[in-house]
Amino acid sequence: MRGASSILERGRIAERWRSQRWDSLVANGPAWHDRFPGMEFPRTGPDDFASKEEVADHFVAYAKQINAPIRCGVEVKLGQRNVGRPGFRVETSDGVVEANSIVAATGPFQIPVIPLVVPGDAGMLQIHSSAYRNPEQLPKGAVLVVGAGSSGVQIADDSSALASASTFRWALTIARRGPIAGATSAGGWASSASGTPRPRDPAPNTSRSR
Ligand SMILES: Cc1cc2nc3c(=O)[nH]c(=O)nc-3n(C[C@H](O)[C@H](O)[C@H](O)COP(=O)(O)OP(=O)(O)OC[C@H]3O[C@@H](n4cnc5c(N)ncnc54)[C@H](O)[C@@H]3O)c2cc1C
Repeated sequence: MRGASSILERGRIAERWRSQRWDSLVANGPAWHDRFPGMEFPRTGPDDFASKEEVADHFVAYAKQINAPIRCGVEVKLGQRNVGRPGFRVETSDGVVEANSIVAATGPFQIPVIPLVVPGDAGMLQIHSSAYRNPEQLPKGAVLVVGAGSSGVQIADDSSALASASTFRWALTIARRGPIAGATSAGGWASSASGTPRPRDPAPNTSRSR
C-alpha cells in the first residue's frame, strides 16, 4: 500500500491504558485539561481524574471523530529500507506494507529494567511497574516503591490504601530523584518484603520526597 497513511496498532486503540497498567490507573491531569479539543469525559467531572478505561474510550471516540486510519490487531514485525528505490518494506502480522516513511510511535520504556539491587535469595518479590496490577498480588509486608514519576506515585498510593485497611501490611514510600545504579530513566520498579510489621517499623503511608 502506498499513498494513504496508516496507523498500525497490534492491540486496540490506547492498549497500554486499557490492559497494560494497574487497575486503579487514572490520568495525571484533571478532566478539564487532559481532553481532546471539543470533547468532554462523560463520566468524570472537570476537576476529577479520568480512569484508564475512560481515557481509552476518549481515544477511541477521538479517533472516530477525526476518522483516523487505524488498523487494530496488526503488529509490525520488521521494517527495512528498500534497496535501489525509495521507501520501506514493512512486514506485519497482516502482510507486507510499502511506505514512503515510517514513524515509530511504539511507546516509551518498552523493556522493563529491574536493577540488581536486591539479591536473588533475599526472599523479596520484585516486580516492574508494567507488571503491577493491584496490591492483592503482593505478599504481606512492607512495600517499597522506587521512582517518583507518574507510575511510582500512583502505585504507592494504591498499595498504601491496602496497608491502611490491614494490620498485616504497611507501606513505606520513598520518592527519590536521580538515577539508581543500574537503572535507566525507565527503571520504575517495586519491591515487596514478606513479613509482618514490627513495633519499631515506620508508620504506614509514610511518604518522603527529596
Ligand atoms: C500514571 C500515568 C499517568 C499519565 N497521565 C497522563 C495524562 O494525564 N495526560 C497525558 O497526556 N499523558 C499521561 N500519561 C502519559 C501517557 O500515558 C503517555 O505519554 C502516552 O501513553 C504515550 O503515548 P504513545 O502513543 O507514545 O505510546 P503508548 O501509549 O505506549 O502507545 C504505543 C502503542 O504502540 C503499540 N505497539 C507497540 N509495538 C508495536 C508493534 N510492533 N506493532 C504495532 N503496534 C505496536 C502498543 O500496543 C501501544 O498501543 C500518563 C502516564 C502514566 C504512567
